[in-house]
Amino acid sequence: MLFESYYSGMILNQIEASPATLFLKKDNKPFLIAGPCSAETEEQVMTIAHGLVDADVDLFRAGIWKPRTRPGVFEGRGSVALPWLKRVKEETGMRTTVEVANAKQVDKALTYGIDVLWIGARSTANPFSVQEIADALKGVDIPVMVKNPTNPDLELWIGALERVQAIGIKQIAAIHRGFSTYAKSMFRNEPYWEIPIELRRRMPDIPLFCDNSHICGNRVDLQSVAQYALDLNYDGLMTETHCDPDHALSDAQQQITPQAYGRLIQSLVLKKETTDDLEFLQHLDAIRHQIDDLDFEVLNLLAKRMKLSEEIGLHKKQSKVSVFQVARWNEILEKAKVMGRERGLSEGFISNYLSAVHQESIAVQAKAKDEV
Ligand code: PEP
Ligand code: MN
Repeated sequence: MLFESYYSGMILNQIEASPATLFLKKDNKPFLIAGPCSAETEEQVMTIAHGLVDADVDLFRAGIWKPRTRPGVFEGRGSVALPWLKRVKEETGMRTTVEVANAKQVDKALTYGIDVLWIGARSTANPFSVQEIADALKGVDIPVMVKNPTNPDLELWIGALERVQAIGIKQIAAIHRGFSTYAKSMFRNEPYWEIPIELRRRMPDIPLFCDNSHICGNRVDLQSVAQYALDLNYDGLMTETHCDPDHALSDAQQQITPQAYGRLIQSLVLKKETTDDLEFLQHLDAIRHQIDDLDFEVLNLLAKRMKLSEEIGLHKKQSKVSVFQVARWNEILEKAKVMGRERGLSEGFISNYLSAVHQESIAVQAKAKDEV
């Protein structure tokens, strides 16, 4: 209930209220951003751009100044590549966007008529950089996209969006490109979908795009991640494309040709956020009622469970027994995993759910007072 109803309400809000005209397309189509990770040569840029025209791309991306993790590798062509993007616009009509990381880069990009700027993940993680970029944009009317920071910190992401908003930029979008983790994962950057979903709840007017390339770090998962994002009602996609992906000077493993990109976009199933079909709406309503009832029941049960935690806390206190017993916690967790599995509930979900319940229960037990 909680997820379903606030989510659908929120999207409606956003479409009605959003001032971000450039970023929102009609007919339920996602806003498409595509182009190479890096602009390498004029010929490479032009070949990719012409290859993307048929895919109905809205914004052509190319990295000019590349933030690389280690030194000594290709760090982008710099300003010499800016006239290439001007040519892209002249020849294809596509608007262009580049990543900017400081005031000097902002000035250069504006001088060459770049249409949209984006703030990269590493810059978003640094409020000094974001503020410098924002200050350089004072009085300029240009759309700005803000990627999530590399670390899973929603407040930093929101802070960056607010800094850009505060200097008067009207057209702002957020790009979800996943988050770095030390743990091994099938993704290059873990999506942690709950973070962009919470961003949507907190800033419903900001269009949200999915950078499936940097989330995946490979080609095979690009389609399913893009589809997942659209199923969550994202407003668009940013995908890296290259005319010769295997020989790209950066992010070679995740780039696809403009032709493969065209096929990927064609394969996506666009979902509407709602419909006028009465039968569908009635059925939806009936299921939602059942979900609401169950959630209500679960909350009542949780309240009952916490009452028992209070009681057990007091009982332990009176006998001077510690609140936390690791063996008991392991037993609860293992039992629940087995029961969950039998009922088709994933182990990750069971463990997240029980951890939250257990944490609260420990806090309640520790606070249990004699008068209870
Ligand atoms: C990029 O888009 O090529 C890039 C460097 O992305 P991110 O800031 O998400 O790492
Ligand atoms: Mn890249």
